[in-house]
Amino acid sequence: MDRYEQVIELAKRRGFLWNSFELYGGTAGFYDYGPLGSTLKRGIEQIWREIYVIQEGFMEIECPTIGIEEVFVASGHVGGFSDPLCECEQCKEAFRADHLIKHIMEEADGLSNEELDRIIEQNGVKCPECGGNIGNIYEFNLMFKTQIGPGSGRKGYLRPETAQGMFVDFLKLARYYRDKLPFGATQIGKSYRNEISPRQGVIRLREFTQAEAEIFIDPMVKSHPNIQRFENTSLNLYSDTAQEMGRSQIMTIREAVDKGIIAHEFLAYQVALVDHFLQRVGIAADKLRFRQHRKDEMAHYAIDCWDAEVLTDRFGWVEVVGIADRTDYDLSAHAKMSKTELSIYSEYEQPRMVEKFVIKPNMGKMGPMFKDKAKVVAEALKALPQEAFEKEEIKVSVDGDDLTVPRELVEFVQETFKVSGENIVPHVIEPSFGIDRILYSVLEHAYDEEIIPAKASEGNNEDETRIVLRFRKEVSPIKVAVLPLLTRKELIEPAKEIVARLKDKGLMVSYDDSGTIGRRYRRNDEIGTPYCITVDYDTLEDNTVTVRDRDNMQQVRVSIDAIDDVLHELLYKGKEFETVGKPL
Ligand code: AMP
Repeated sequence: MDRYEQVIELAKRRGFLWNSFELYGGTAGFYDYGPLGSTLKRGIEQIWREIYVIQEGFMEIECPTIGIEEVFVASGHVGGFSDPLCECEQCKEAFRADHLIKHIMEEADGLSNEELDRIIEQNGVKCPECGGNIGNIYEFNLMFKTQIGPGSGRKGYLRPETAQGMFVDFLKLARYYRDKLPFGATQIGKSYRNEISPRQGVIRLREFTQAEAEIFIDPMVKSHPNIQRFENTSLNLYSDTAQEMGRSQIMTIREAVDKGIIAHEFLAYQVALVDHFLQRVGIAADKLRFRQHRKDEMAHYAIDCWDAEVLTDRFGWVEVVGIADRTDYDLSAHAKMSKTELSIYSEYEQPRMVEKFVIKPNMGKMGPMFKDKAKVVAEALKALPQEAFEKEEIKVSVDGDDLTVPRELVEFVQETFKVSGENIVPHVIEPSFGIDRILYSVLEHAYDEEIIPAKASEGNNEDETRIVLRFRKEVSPIKVAVLPLLTRKELIEPAKEIVARLKDKGLMVSYDDSGTIGRRYRRNDEIGTPYCITVDYDTLEDNTVTVRDRDNMQQVRVSIDAIDDVLHELLYKGKEFETVGKPL
């Protein structure tokens, strides 16, 4: 069993992840989150909200998961959101062509379908299922199509990313933020991609949760007001050039910006913030790197992109977050499609003096010559470009008539104006998180098997394996388990009173009285419960309980009256376990 199998086995058994539709045989690319999985997922999302919505101030919005066709034509998804598909001529199994040649070429993103066809042929690549010949490659659009309304209703698509909702709402968001850049909006919700052959479990789903922030910035202002927060943060960067050398580099954010490795501070700040979030939810620092996209693999909308990649046992480095500089691609595309200006008035720090070439038609002379058309001719002249006045005769078209205007009817002057700002199309920095991949990585990095040596004195002759999910306490789905030592009324009652008190404090607490105490501890270790409280006969004597630490199995005795404060300090204030009570 590799680590993936161990984690998935535990996740299914203990109610984190279940295959969807299993009652009917299931289908690839869908997973249900069971009671603990849902709670864990919500915990991760809540930390994300705390960082992006509360601290960064990027307010959350919620748009439909179905989009109308125009949105995805404008965004480029109808035309270009596809993967190279090929089928086995014999068993008809479908494959992603770039995945079929992974053993020959690690990164095949930039290759054309003809090149992929050639590599498959030259290397004699056959169907991994039946050994049959592989047919020609064609593009398969990954969006799920649907129809909105009955009959010949409107064409729609399930959204392949949450981002487009924020772009379509740009003008309303700009008004909400009083037309001041930079500002950001976020969305957490389902996205859908009809992945060709999802064989990687929770890593590649057809319905998954994204958390995305779209940060609208002035393209001329590339310094981040808060960059000093991360300047000395060291990251494992696998830049374009580092990939050429074959090894990543540990470097501070300041160094990366100064050396031009990360294009600018706004992007660098976001890379560092992603690192901060991932470590806070429990991704191991030594299994995390940031890989820059090579020029030929960049998405159609981006000019620079860094992926946060997490090292997994079975799948190697997996992209869990993409951080892209999407420039003005999306806003410009939606402006063109909707014929609406999607820009924002940006005031200069200092007003600027600008020289302008001004055309002044002489109305005293225009009147007699053009009569009632004089005014429209004058307006048409003002709209002409400067070059039009460099010719012998000035030609102007009015209501379909081509007119010639004598030069002496027009004056040209160079005037100086004071300009305080201009309309600009903001650029967008986008961190895009795949919550499901992050959740799986958190499970894998938390998973630990510990050998407990046999203790003959306690009647155990064999070593025991303890499975522990060493979650960061903040993300553990269950924070505390309350266990009466025996199923006796006199112990159950105080235990249930403790449960009620902790629930009142808003803690996710469980009560468990089935099986031996040892088995109950193990069950809680397996789901990553940081603390177990045991009520025993001493409790009835001295009003104290045993609190057990998941990670080192140490126990302390704590007064019942102090239990809620003690747990709060242990869970959220980083208090040392040994200091909260009398060690046992
Ligand atoms: P992308 O827009 O392709 O950069 O995707 C953004 C993030 O969504 C990625 O970093 C992944 O974490 C996640 N993601 C993309 N496709 C899938 C998928 N099929 N299943 C699960 N997560 C995905």
